[in-house]
Amino acid sequence: MNMIYGKGASGGIAAGVLKIIRRKPSAISGESCADVTEETARLHAAIAQAEDELTVLYAEAVRKVGEREAAIFDIHKMMLADEDFVTEAENFIRNEHRSARAAVQKAGAALAEIFGAMEDDYMKARAADILAVAERVTDILGGGSTAIAVTHPSVIAAHDLTPAETVMLDKTMVLGFVTEGGSTMSHTAILARTMDIPAVVGVGEGRIPDEYDGSRVVLDGSEGVLYIEPDEHTENRYLTAMREAEDERKRLERFRGKTCVQSDGTRIMVTANVGSLEDIDEALRCDAEGIGLFRSEFLFMGRTSPPTEEEQFAVYKQAALKMGGRECVIRTLDAGADKHIPYLTGDMREANPALGLRAVRLCLRQPHLLKTQFRALYRASLFGSLSAMIPMIVLPEEIRQVREIAREAQESLRAENTAFGKIRVGIMIETPSAAILSDQLAPMTDFFSIGTNDLLQYTLAADRENADVAYLTHTLPESVRRLIRTACAAARREGIPVSVCGELGADLTETKFFIESGVTKLSVTPSAILKVRESVMRESSRLIPVRQ
Ligand code: PEP
Ligand code: MG
Repeated sequence: MNMIYGKGASGGIAAGVLKIIRRKPSAISGESCADVTEETARLHAAIAQAEDELTVLYAEAVRKVGEREAAIFDIHKMMLADEDFVTEAENFIRNEHRSARAAVQKAGAALAEIFGAMEDDYMKARAADILAVAERVTDILGGGSTAIAVTHPSVIAAHDLTPAETVMLDKTMVLGFVTEGGSTMSHTAILARTMDIPAVVGVGEGRIPDEYDGSRVVLDGSEGVLYIEPDEHTENRYLTAMREAEDERKRLERFRGKTCVQSDGTRIMVTANVGSLEDIDEALRCDAEGIGLFRSEFLFMGRTSPPTEEEQFAVYKQAALKMGGRECVIRTLDAGADKHIPYLTGDMREANPALGLRAVRLCLRQPHLLKTQFRALYRASLFGSLSAMIPMIVLPEEIRQVREIAREAQESLRAENTAFGKIRVGIMIETPSAAILSDQLAPMTDFFSIGTNDLLQYTLAADRENADVAYLTHTLPESVRRLIRTACAAARREGIPVSVCGELGADLTETKFFIESGVTKLSVTPSAILKVRESVMRESSRLIPVRQ
């Protein structure tokens, strides 16, 4: 048995035969051309064809993985039309008499090198996109194709996969994939997660030699390991894990379409945390009783300016419609700290961004952001049951200011005769200050939602991104329990509901504590919903069908 270690890019286990995909050796860098005008025309024709292919691919990707993930192919189209890229290739043809293929390859490599050298991980990962775009054009010029054909169910291995190759993978044939290059931040990795294909990336150059082709393998996409010819013990261990996962999936089906009710009649809901409309589809497939946290900052990422009111309205309206009357809690922009959005936060040089101008603080500094978001939310609320949730509250004054902006948003809509509905406005309890002052905050708000991720970080002074201090936040310490009890007691006195939307909401060992404290909603990642409902049922008296 051989073990090859990489980075787990998409969870899950795949077991089968390894198929190695090798591209044609690209000995094109030395190709030259005789006629510069003709070669330049060939370059432009190939770019035009690549643009057409990307348009088709975009539509296919929207169908398979939704608009958000498909956007990468629009970005590829933009890269293709980028003047620097095209001019660079033209110059190589004109000045060095390169063939169009060689010129495109050289221009792509030069641009990729610039991105590859950037500090920001996201920008670094874009180097792979540029190479993918260049390869698409060189393939067209060389008469090749970028689709990967797999005819038997296999785990595939490649030097790297482009997003286009990934989205076109046939899930019935590709059980999982492993790449020598790539990063967990790449679009290929994001697509693999969305398509639910186990994947390991970045195992290292030359780590998968041709002689492994046809070997029996097990791929562990969570741990980032590929086992070549696993020994019996390892293979059995994984096959058992796969069988158990399947059995558990079947067993949990009995909790579908149900809700848990306590002996006093209180319903305990299990809802989903999402970041896009596609995630809402997944949440519905996983039987969410509502959306407890829609991280709206994802709408602001991967672009160069904030989404307009119309863009936000379209998303919130769709979210409301998709949820068909069930509550959908949209968290207002939580930018800053670990959610870096360069055009909003880029010019700030903060020594401690997690303690800086993030979330509601940033929105109160740039109130037009919040006003636009509220206008979009009030308008979209005509189509369903929407709530707004404010992150990172520490003081009552912040709620007053947010409410004032919300009022201005309503007034401006009224003045324009634009129709709008009602939304509830709640806050996150994710700072010790908010929990301690919860008796003052409760009368000012419609609900509390406990963000355990940040509440742990700020209470224990332990950076949530720092693995060295993760041991402090693995379990719920007494200090945080006290804060949660304090917030729940204040909410009870005021008669407002409390939910938990941090990762600990899915920690089955804490379900009892949350319910006993007075939490009535656990909002978790969609795939955990049925498991959490089973756990809630252990603390409840009845499981009844949900009446929609
Ligand atoms: C939290 O802090 O617990 C939370 C849900 O918000 P986020 O993880 O997005 O900061
Ligand atoms: Mg938070």
